[in-house]
Amino acid sequence: MTPIEKLLGRGHEDPAWRAMALCGAGGQDPDMWYAERGTVKSGALSTCQLCPVSPSCLLDALRHELEAGVSVGIWGGTEPRYRKRMLRGGSK
Ligand code: SF4
Repeated sequence: MTPIEKLLGRGHEDPAWRAMALCGAGGQDPDMWYAERGTVKSGALSTCQLCPVSPSCLLDALRHELEAGVSVGIWGGTEPRYRKRMLRGGSK
């Protein structure tokens, strides 16, 4: 078990954070968080930087992706390739 797997195994998901998600606020284009690979996602990433629930969002994404084996979209201010690296324990 990698350190990230141990971290993700602690506690349970608390979906209450989603009520404060900036990407869920009115006027946001949800497609920004699921843009094609290689396209600019700066709008989503800059929104995530201001989001008060970014750590909870990232942890839930990692929990889900650890189970599913697939990383998709911007979560917690991170791109899929970054989260994949985290789940592999930082290896390339
Ligand atoms: S960190 Fe980004 S993806 Fe996560 S809830 Fe906030 S705005 Fe949405």
